[in-house]
Amino acid sequence: MKIGVVLNRVFRINHNPLLAYVYQRLDDIESCVFIIPVEQFGDHSQLKETFYKGTLKKFLNELHNNHISVNMIDYDQLIEFCESQELDKVVMASDIMSYHKEEYDYPHQKQHFNKASIEVQPIRVQHYFNPKKTFNNQGEPYKVFTSFYKRWRPYVMQRKIDQYKLKDIANKTSTSEKKLKLDVEDRGLSEKDVQQQWQSFLEHDIQNYDSNREYLPEVLTSQLSIALAYGLIDIIKVFNDLLQGYDIDESNYEAFIRELIFREFYYVLMTQYPETANVAFKEKYQHIDWVNNEHQFTKWKNGETGFPIIDAAMEELNQTGYMHNRMRMVTSQFLTKDLLIDWTWGEAYFKDKLIDYDSASNVHGWQWSASTGTDAVPYFRMFNPMRQSERFDSKALYIKRWLPVFNDVDAKLLHDTKKNQKKLKQQGIELGQNYPKQMVNHNDSRERVMSLFKSLS
Ligand SMILES: Cc1cc2nc3c(=O)[nH]c(=O)nc-3n(C[C@H](O)[C@H](O)[C@H](O)COP(=O)(O)OP(=O)(O)OC[C@H]3O[C@@H](n4cnc5c(N)ncnc54)[C@H](O)[C@@H]3O)c2cc1C
Repeated sequence: MKIGVVLNRVFRINHNPLLAYVYQRLDDIESCVFIIPVEQFGDHSQLKETFYKGTLKKFLNELHNNHISVNMIDYDQLIEFCESQELDKVVMASDIMSYHKEEYDYPHQKQHFNKASIEVQPIRVQHYFNPKKTFNNQGEPYKVFTSFYKRWRPYVMQRKIDQYKLKDIANKTSTSEKKLKLDVEDRGLSEKDVQQQWQSFLEHDIQNYDSNREYLPEVLTSQLSIALAYGLIDIIKVFNDLLQGYDIDESNYEAFIRELIFREFYYVLMTQYPETANVAFKEKYQHIDWVNNEHQFTKWKNGETGFPIIDAAMEELNQTGYMHNRMRMVTSQFLTKDLLIDWTWGEAYFKDKLIDYDSASNVHGWQWSASTGTDAVPYFRMFNPMRQSERFDSKALYIKRWLPVFNDVDAKLLHDTKKNQKKLKQQGIELGQNYPKQMVNHNDSRERVMSLFKSLS
């Protein structure tokens, strides 16, 4: 048998189910063609593109060191290449949600393979649970997180991890014919970098995870989202490690496990209701009369809203490709509730910018904030950006980190700039001159959104 192995965003040589699949069938395999379909990014996603290419380059080096030769193909030439190789079968990861373009998703690629009559074997590589095996007693996906968590948490247990010898796989690998030149800056992560970061998180920060999670000035969470988006770490190993250390500090470990199960929950929802990528989960909110003011959208994107906490978060996103979870919640609520802009606009912007973009978590994170999702925040529990700022950044350390214009200003003036306009002026900040005025009146926005949602409920 001649087999094609598509290493689509599973950039690891350890605990890789695609490699395990090959290893378990070595006796039947005459030769193995490794293929990496290379992704393209849009004009607005340079940071993501550099990160992707840098990570890919590091993965290629690792494969090279292990004598595994790879063909790099543009996505749109994948089928043609497979045909030219006369493969009996192709194996491919089927559960990746972190692609920048929808057409790279497995369901789309599968259609192309089917059309070309190439057998394709889907393999789950990035998620812990099988979405079709996590239904409730009525045979439907759980729609409320706590029920999902209660039901499936007991099934998080030590699992066997795939073992294989790369040398044996390398011996069956056909020499590569196709190489693409990658112009790469020294960005991105290697599998080894991720292993070190994960070990360090397990040794230190996890013990304060519950409180660290809300600390804005520094990232004290795991940033595992980035590693998971590129397949740099195996989710089974992650859970195994957590269970192994669990007794050290049950409450923080459980808090962390719970978040990972959130990722699984959203993944199940997304596979079962793919239409929710663009449409409100709750039917009654499918026809909201969004205001969709382009000018206001631009201000939000550029961090020019006049609310320092929002603007700091947008700076963090635009400069690093990452944003704290709390601030993802606050900025998304600001867009959908204060500005009444369609959540799909915000989702698309986050997709362009987030290095850890994951369609399931992003879409359902946005639908949570917009109150359109299943198990979403109720519309009447709208965040007040000024209160969020006082509560989670009382010393304005986060604000000052991303908005240096405020470096010499009293922290307490920065939560509500309108109220403190005069004092800010005394400290060198003139609203409308060196920092924008608040673009909306939060109380008015609140009234508008409450009456809109009430009318639809
Ligand atoms: C509007 C919005 C958009 C989001 N977009 C994405 C996205 O594109 N990609 C993404 O991975 N996450 C997204 N999230 C979820 C969450 O913000 C990130 O997973 C988290 O901030 C990543 O940082 P971390 O790995 O340090 O998290 P940690 O706090 O260390 O959490 C560990 C892991 O648990 C999972 N997790 C944590 N919180 C959530 C959550 N609320 N939902 C689902 N999984 C979670 C992630 O896999 C994360 O890596 C979004 C949340 C919101 C509100």
